Amino acid sequence: MTPATLIRRVRLVDLSGDGSPATGSGEVDVAIARGRITAVAPRLQPAGDQAVIDGEGRWALPGLWDAHVHLGQWSLGRSRVDVSSADSAPAAAALMAAALGRPGVSDLVVGAGYRSPTWPEPPTVDALDRATGQRPVVLISGDCHNGWLNSAALARFGLAPRAGVLLEAEWFAVLADVVAAELAQAGPRSYAAAQQEAARRGVVGVIDYEFEPGFRRWPERYAATGLLRVQTSVYPDDLDEAIASGVRSGDVLAGRDGVPMLTMGSLKIISDGSLNTRTARCVEPYPNADGLAEAHGVQNYDLDALTQLLAQARAHGLTAAVHAIGDAAVSTALDAFEATGATGSLEHAQLMATADVSRLARLGLTASVQPAHLLDDRAVTHQLWPDRADRCFPFASLAAAGVRLAFGSDAPVAPLDPWLAIAAAVHRGDPDDAPWNPAQALSPVQALAASVRGRIAPGEPGDLVLLDDDPLCPDFSSAEAARRLRRMDVWATVIGGVPA
Ligand SMILES: [Zn+2]
Repeated sequence: MTPATLIRRVRLVDLSGDGSPATGSGEVDVAIARGRITAVAPRLQPAGDQAVIDGEGRWALPGLWDAHVHLGQWSLGRSRVDVSSADSAPAAAALMAAALGRPGVSDLVVGAGYRSPTWPEPPTVDALDRATGQRPVVLISGDCHNGWLNSAALARFGLAPRAGVLLEAEWFAVLADVVAAELAQAGPRSYAAAQQEAARRGVVGVIDYEFEPGFRRWPERYAATGLLRVQTSVYPDDLDEAIASGVRSGDVLAGRDGVPMLTMGSLKIISDGSLNTRTARCVEPYPNADGLAEAHGVQNYDLDALTQLLAQARAHGLTAAVHAIGDAAVSTALDAFEATGATGSLEHAQLMATADVSRLARLGLTASVQPAHLLDDRAVTHQLWPDRADRCFPFASLAAAGVRLAFGSDAPVAPLDPWLAIAAAVHRGDPDDAPWNPAQALSPVQALAASVRGRIAPGEPGDLVLLDDDPLCPDFSSAEAARRLRRMDVWATVIGGVPA
């Protein structure tokens, strides 16, 4: 049985939305039992069985959630070679060659983080072969939407010889095998460490979209490594199996002392590509589209296929999470939601037609967005989408239309750090830079509200974060607020009443 907990003397951060200082911002005590908040009031009397945490006047927020992670790949981060600094294909290949001799690097060597659109020459298998030889080497692009394998890795994963990188659907099938091989090498400890690190940043839960049948893999993994609340998912390849098993969104797949910890989430569909790979599906063609197989980007699932999947999900009690980055893909995804009455979320929504903002609101879908991407994608947007940069990451428009925003990192694409996302949404740029399209910036209240679930009130989950500073940053400029938010000290993270 979960111990009862009394958190004393905390100041509640008011996320009600008007931005004014919390009314009656005096200190309160918060009682938690069986994983839920049972009372919030000044000076509650401790009961004999309660563990007491003295907040000493610190600020209390509901627990933070990351609404889009690939937890397996994030947990593998340290065992992968970081090639994000490479400014050319030979430079990336040389980093991999240097890593081959490292102690502890086993049979398969995986690098991650390359961003080739700005390179003078595209990556080739030949260039990687010359640098790395007979050991299987896989490089994963920074946006995860393409993969660069040497000949040994192509053979190991059963692929025909080729000249260049793998893209989109063909690549995702291989990526699932690569991740499974890496996880088998790393063992469960990496999962536990990744969850502990997230909890230190105030994260109490994640929505995991790892490329795997999560509904099948997670129960056993949770028993071995569980710490955070995890909402898992299923991809179309395993949808039939999920349906046959009878699992529905919201089902509890694992608990801890009667507290639901692992739940079933959505059918995840990657409907288009990504900006960096120039495969996000757009209404207008990419400028300088020569060399691109599809000038408008790639629609992995057309409207018919998407509609069929969403109808199937809805009929079997599953919500849907549809990845759509380009404006044409967003429109197609909304068409499919509208046609089927499916519920769930639009993932990314990086570039949107203005009219789709209100349609998203009307359909009642969650916009699951990743503000930290606007830091990484700022330069490449001005290079690849110069004519549409003003329609990217339209957070303020979405909020004004009444869309529910949920922030995520898409880790490992960006670090699993909600404070980086919150700061990026508030300042829309590095704190030392001028903001990008500041009309679309959110207030700290809005950004925090998009990062939590629920409230600190009786009946709500007993998930709290205690902070040394006021995260609302009253009277700060956006740059000052972003600086404070990025450095926010998390003093304690409490999950279901238990300190993580
Ligand atoms: Zn993702």
